[in-house]
Amino acid sequence: MPGMEPAESTPRLRLTSRVEEIPHTGPAIARGLREMRLTRVGHLIAHLPTRYERIQPETTIADSLRDHLVTIRATVVATRLGGHRRKPRFEAVLEDETGRLDVVWFNAPYLQRRILPGHLLRVRGKVRLYNRALQLANPEHEIIDPDEPRIEVVTLRPVYPASEHISTRVIGRVIRRVLPLVLGDIEDHLPPAFLRERDLPALRDAYRMVHAPQDEAEAAAGRRRLAYDELLMLQLGVFLRRAQSSATHEAPPLARTPEIDARIRARFPFALTEAQERAIEEIAGDLAQTRPSSRLIQGDVGSGKTVVALYAMLLAVASGHQAALMAPTEILAEQHFATLSAMLAGSRTSIELLTGSTSPSQREVILDRLSRGEIDILVGTHALLSEHVAFRSLALAVIDEQHRFGVHQRASLRTKGDDARTVPHVLVMTATPIPRTLALTVLGDLDISTIDALPPGRTPIQTRVLRPAQRDEAYAIVRERLERGEQAFVVAPLIEQSAHEAVDVRTLADELARGPLAGRRMGLLHGQLARDEREQTMERFRQGEIEVLVATSIIEVGVDVPNASVMVIESAERFGLAQLHQLRGRVGRGPHASICILIAEATTEQAAQRLEVMAKSCDGFEIAQRDLEIRGPGEFFGTAQSGVLRFRAADLARDLDLLTLARRDARQWIERSPRLDRPDEALLCSRMFKAVGEELGLSEVG
Ligand code: ADP
Ligand code: MG
Repeated sequence: MPGMEPAESTPRLRLTSRVEEIPHTGPAIARGLREMRLTRVGHLIAHLPTRYERIQPETTIADSLRDHLVTIRATVVATRLGGHRRKPRFEAVLEDETGRLDVVWFNAPYLQRRILPGHLLRVRGKVRLYNRALQLANPEHEIIDPDEPRIEVVTLRPVYPASEHISTRVIGRVIRRVLPLVLGDIEDHLPPAFLRERDLPALRDAYRMVHAPQDEAEAAAGRRRLAYDELLMLQLGVFLRRAQSSATHEAPPLARTPEIDARIRARFPFALTEAQERAIEEIAGDLAQTRPSSRLIQGDVGSGKTVVALYAMLLAVASGHQAALMAPTEILAEQHFATLSAMLAGSRTSIELLTGSTSPSQREVILDRLSRGEIDILVGTHALLSEHVAFRSLALAVIDEQHRFGVHQRASLRTKGDDARTVPHVLVMTATPIPRTLALTVLGDLDISTIDALPPGRTPIQTRVLRPAQRDEAYAIVRERLERGEQAFVVAPLIEQSAHEAVDVRTLADELARGPLAGRRMGLLHGQLARDEREQTMERFRQGEIEVLVATSIIEVGVDVPNASVMVIESAERFGLAQLHQLRGRVGRGPHASICILIAEATTEQAAQRLEVMAKSCDGFEIAQRDLEIRGPGEFFGTAQSGVLRFRAADLARDLDLLTLARRDARQWIERSPRLDRPDEALLCSRMFKAVGEELGLSEVG
């Protein structure tokens, strides 16, 4: 019971104390906290509010303004359960020194056991005149101690993540209780001068500000410090790992001479765009070093990343080394192989394809030639990473990603190579423009080159959103295009968890063949077809034998058929924005003005917003940023993403400035202290390891 134990016998509460030791905290509360994995006082302090409610100052009953939101402190003088069983009504009469007030709660009979005569209550709600008496209906209530300070000014009350068994109110009360007892124990891992320069509060002040802010500005300042810390920890980890890796690993330095440059350019049937030139400069700069480099090339669909990657691979080959190109699917690996082979036709560079479909005997030959250095460029799927593929001298690994990557996943590459010290340079290509905040966190270990302009001569793609009822209209447009000799894609979504993607597209194709596209030459493409069959279908589409390709999102990346000028995406609401954008990029690659028709049932406001973004914008970066804002970082990358994204305070849709600051600070910090092992860094270092060490695969220092 409150206030029963003598204060002296209670041991002092610490951050490491169990929640059971918190004074005035009964077993039910402790259990509720435990269930939320808040087992120690420190966990409570780190349990941050998601938002704040504004609480009006307490007024007396007499002074309370009718029809305004008021906060009143008064004593319960009587209670009664009224109404009937179906519609119970719990009533209480409250009294303060100025008058009486009737309070009623509907459908909350359990309050009868909780709110008892003699209790002091703080209630919040709107006072109304009812039967000529003042009445407060369904107010929020708290049972408070008489010595609980009055709320005298507008107060922000934190709203905490809560559970079925413990409410935000109770969590807030426990946190308010422990806060003054343990704040003094919170040690800062950053020096005061460092914080002053960045206008950041001390850690203990920051926690006080987020849990008990005087005003919005304080809440924001507290959050800013905690968010900065999260971002700094990650960036420190990223730069520390880099420092560790360049201390223990080397990559072959790839020199570039004017002759080499000219020889490589001669392979391209066009002049490079300015954006491509810039990316190539940045990459060549990396590759000239012995420090193993990791760089992301991001560029909108069709911006010409493959050519840039080929340039880099040929730099490796020119220095007598090898390069690998890995794609997320076999189809893409096959396409890359075809594209690169075409550009290398007639050169001495030897290129091979190795995938799951390669026959064992072929595979053996390839691996043998690879280890003897007779193959210059090997194209395959990401499986190349995990298999025992031995290069004679791998200098560059190009990874073509969609968007299923995180900071941790590339670690495996680092151990490849012909001896333990030598590792390849790594180049990651993505056709998904990634908002900068995500690029710097999820992919924080990469330098970034952005190809932000398309090669000349592209015609913009018009995008229309139609409802399922307007499907006929969509296929009328398709027929019109086919009549003109152009070609079409129809994309069907994968029904999630359906093991038979084939069924969905086949059903759609049958429907179309019997209905709006009767008599047209149609082909089917999905991931469950054998490689030969897929290849044949693609080839026939390329040749124009197939007019309409009905496919799953397998055609998302890489398919290049300039004569295709119309795409219909069925159930477009099922796709992510980034994915829709990539799909759309399959048209608009040739001379025809192209159109993309999204057939969608926008059942939610969010879905409608997202489709609108697609119709309005053709800029992948803008679409990506909007997608992040609408859906949040977890959704942006699809399911099961890296834990790095589970920030408590930082908000990747908003905190670019803070992130930029943290990244700059972290880089400078590690430059000054590449092992993060100075005595005054011990706390920072251990907290950083705890926060991101495992995720980043950092090896323990010292
Ligand atoms: P991405 O991989 O970025 O989607 P690709 O490298 O596949 O783009 O290039 C898309 C198309 O544009 C290809 O057909 C390619 O040959 C062509 N292309 C690339 N760079 C240029 C350029 N500088 N000028 C003209 N066409 C280019
Ligand atoms: Mg490409």
